Formats: sequence, C-alpha cells, structure tokens
Amino acid sequence: MFDFDNHELVSGKFILNIIHGLGDNASWVFNLIKNNNLPDLQPNKDYPVLVCLQILETLKHQSGPNTLFRLGIETSKRYKIRELYSNLQTPHDLFPLFNLAYSLNIKTYEDINYYYYEKKSENQVIFRSQTPFHCEFERGFFTGILNHQFSIPFQNIEITHLPELACRNYGNSYCNYLITWS
Ligand SMILES: [Zn+2]
Repeated sequence: MFDFDNHELVSGKFILNIIHGLGDNASWVFNLIKNNNLPDLQPNKDYPVLVCLQILETLKHQSGPNTLFRLGIETSKRYKIRELYSNLQTPHDLFPLFNLAYSLNIKTYEDINYYYYEKKSENQVIFRSQTPFHCEFERGFFTGILNHQFSIPFQNIEITHLPELACRNYGNSYCNYLITWS
C-alpha cells in the first residue's frame, strides 16, 4: 500500500509528537521502536519515516481509521504555527506554507512539492497531498490545525475526499481533499 522502501527521514520530534498524541496508550509504540533498534528517540535526531508509518499502520489495524483521524487532531495541537508565522489571517495564508512546514520535519532526497493548494472561494480550498502518510491521519491533522489556529469549531470544518477511491489507501499517488470552513 505505502512505499516502505522510501528513504525519507523524519525528525524524532515529529514521532514524539505522535506518541504524545496517543496519550496513555503508547507503550506498544515504544516496543515497536525498540524492535526497530531505535532505543532512545531524540527530538533532534532523524529516523526513517518507515518507523512513523509503522506506528500509524499498526494503530489503524488495531483501532480503525477513526483513531488515526483523532490522533491527527491531537498531534496538530503540538504545532505552534503562529510562533513561526505571526501574520496568518485566514487559512488561505496557511495552506501554501505546508510544503515548507513539511520540509522542516521530513528530509527527502527528491525536490518534490508534497502539497498542492488551490483556492476555490473565501472559505474553500482544494488541497492535494502526496506525502507517504495515511490520509485519515492527515485529515485529522488539517482539521486540528483549522480548529486551534483559527478558532473554527469542529462542526464548521468539512474535509471531503475527492473522489473517494482516488486515494493513497488504494494505490493512488495522492489524495485530493475539498476543505470547507465557516
Ligand atoms: Zn486518501
């Protein structure tokens, strides 16, 4: 399903943020990390992105896709985006920055724009992702970012997969989301 042969590296901080998002149920993650011969996870070191994908894949298998969605929301809370970019007025100011934000956490060996953004209206964008991450996790992450960076209530955020079957879960190279807020 996912390209586990890729050689991308992810910061320890990114993995630790995911583990924090798991709360009290994270002990199996530390076993998984130990089994990958990565005994001490340091925030400033880099690790194969495969470790991160294994955590998400195991969680999805154990607890279902909605758990990944909730984990995406929890993980997003640890990103203080406004400390980096102080003049964000609307989500339209933020979405074009996601490629830069991604490159701060994930080191890749190819010069790829992982996200593509298109403004549809004042409260709607089409957002394409071709990262190696699970789309349930990313949908949660974007939902959480809109909620806590722009104080948009969860019930006013809608992220629709376009179309449903053109998805990385089914071997597609990207997922398209229609993101609407009010
Ligand atoms: Zn998808």
